Amino acid sequence: MCHRPIREISLFDFAFGAKSICFKCYLGLDPKFQHWEEDGVKFTSLYPYLEEYQSLLYLYKGCGDIELSKCFLERAMPYLKLRYRDYILIPAPSHFTKIATRGFDHVPLMFEGIGKKMVSLIEKTCDIKQSDLGKKERAKVGSMLRLRATPSLRKEKILFVDDVYTTGSTARACLSLIKQLHPKKLEAFVMAKVPKNRKELTAR
Ligand SMILES: [Zn+2]
Repeated sequence: MCHRPIREISLFDFAFGAKSICFKCYLGLDPKFQHWEEDGVKFTSLYPYLEEYQSLLYLYKGCGDIELSKCFLERAMPYLKLRYRDYILIPAPSHFTKIATRGFDHVPLMFEGIGKKMVSLIEKTCDIKQSDLGKKERAKVGSMLRLRATPSLRKEKILFVDDVYTTGSTARACLSLIKQLHPKKLEAFVMAKVPKNRKELTAR
């Protein structure tokens, strides 16, 4: 993250087992777990969507610095591996032209380190940026998504994952598609949540 070499063996690695980032960057990534529920689904977010996270995401997603994919979960990895140990991950979809332009599918790659089975079950049929849509249009985001296949998930615990939660319209649309497959359990994990109001902002 800081472009400085990481010494191979340090007390820090020994103590924290961090593999991808240096101590300074490790401290800079400050997770603030938030939990809430929507339509009967438990949501968890790791970071508030503020400057530190925004710039890291921009370098990764916008500038294509693929090496940064490992940084996001570095601090929360032991917790996540345990918390979601028997879950299958379903990532939020990107449109195929975005993946082609960027050269990689950014959401699955961010969560790859958890080492869980991941199924890209949802497909984006229209290449429209969420932030370019008005409030009314955002509500229709479900019509731009579809299931690639319809396997039964009755015996599976599913974790829907995404990089940013803004209004939640994408997450809700994806979750309603997944619900059609009747998973045994369904939860959502978003890397960052846009603070809703001043109270949420100052709570950090
Ligand atoms: Zn660093």
